[in-house]
Amino acid sequence: MMYVYLDNGATTQVDPRVTGKIIKYMNDRYGNASSLHFKGREAKKALDKARHTIASSINARADEIYFTSGGTEGNNLILKGVAFANREKGNHIITTKVEHKCVLESCKWLEKQGFKITYLDVDEEGFVDIEQLKNAISDRTILVSVIHGNNEIGTINDLKEIGRICGEKGVYFHSDACQSYTKVAIDVQEMPVDLLTLNAHKIHGPKGVGAIYVRDGVKIEGWQHGGFHEMGIRAGTENIHGIVGFAEAVKLSLSSKHISYMTRLRDKLIDGVMTRIPYVRLNGPRGEKRLCNNAHFSFKFIEGEAINGLLDDYGICGSTGSACSEKTLEPSYVLKSLGLNHEMMNGSLRMTLSRFTTEEEIDYVLEVLPLVIRRLREISPFKEEQHVFNRDA
Ligand SMILES: *Cc1c(COP(=O)(O)O)cnc(C)c1O
Repeated sequence: MMYVYLDNGATTQVDPRVTGKIIKYMNDRYGNASSLHFKGREAKKALDKARHTIASSINARADEIYFTSGGTEGNNLILKGVAFANREKGNHIITTKVEHKCVLESCKWLEKQGFKITYLDVDEEGFVDIEQLKNAISDRTILVSVIHGNNEIGTINDLKEIGRICGEKGVYFHSDACQSYTKVAIDVQEMPVDLLTLNAHKIHGPKGVGAIYVRDGVKIEGWQHGGFHEMGIRAGTENIHGIVGFAEAVKLSLSSKHISYMTRLRDKLIDGVMTRIPYVRLNGPRGEKRLCNNAHFSFKFIEGEAINGLLDDYGICGSTGSACSEKTLEPSYVLKSLGLNHEMMNGSLRMTLSRFTTEEEIDYVLEVLPLVIRRLREISPFKEEQHVFNRDA
């Protein structure tokens, strides 16, 4: 049997060249970057170099990059750190209904601390409502946070347009770019974005490491206190091997060839599913405004858990949506925000590709998935409805 990993939105295989770097820094170059001796200097040099690599990948300056333990910490640090550092200006933050859980939960916590949060709607493809955003900004607003590439349905929001609106109103603009990083070109000189969240394990780097970009001059307060690491924003001995691995992953991921390769396979998968299987909806947009590695479908009359369970038996790893909410059987809040009805929300399947995905794997999925869907529909409790549907169609 073939084994096909199509859950790269949850995490990715670490590139063996990244692993090689990590091992080198664990076994030989294990110094503490704060130590003054040659072992320390060796680590410090690697840390500086990695910071430059991340910075130049988004056209930022090295002193605008702060390493973190990943996307969750980065989003927490930015939302809470900007909120508390700018309390004098106001207490209002704007975000959307389709953010990653860690943004939404940070916002909920901030509400308990007295901040006011506006959660913007999205349209049926998952794009943020620009008019609603314009109307929501007031002189009490300090921050707007909008996800770049949506982790469930792949919608890519226009950072330039949103950033321009925020800039005109003098409000900081943050974007969670964990899914889009290296898959969509990001240039902070061209895009008026003040803060970004990045992580390593979605781009073939290790788990537990990431970075935030904070534009020079943006007021942010750290909440992890200790030594003067990360320019005083985030204390703790730097995870040198993880950071070096992250930088290596960035170097290996940055290529338009990877983007066009994944786009071609994504479209083959989407077109194949849409033509071979009836009663299916593609969630999220088509084309360039969709993450190059994301396909997300709703299949009528069946449950997403059942689809993924049966695909698992065939050696195929997919997911119902995002990995974090997989254990609750609640319909996804992202799909709810698109205005899907209940039966369309349940039969959801996300398949996320990587540059290691092969054409043979996509062919295999296109062979297996129609069988899986047909079998599940045969035993579906909505069978009667299917007959009515078939007769009416
Ligand atoms: C994965 C992900 C996160 C969380 O990152 P971790 O490094 O796993 O903590 C945040 N936002 C988005 C959009 C993600 O895809």
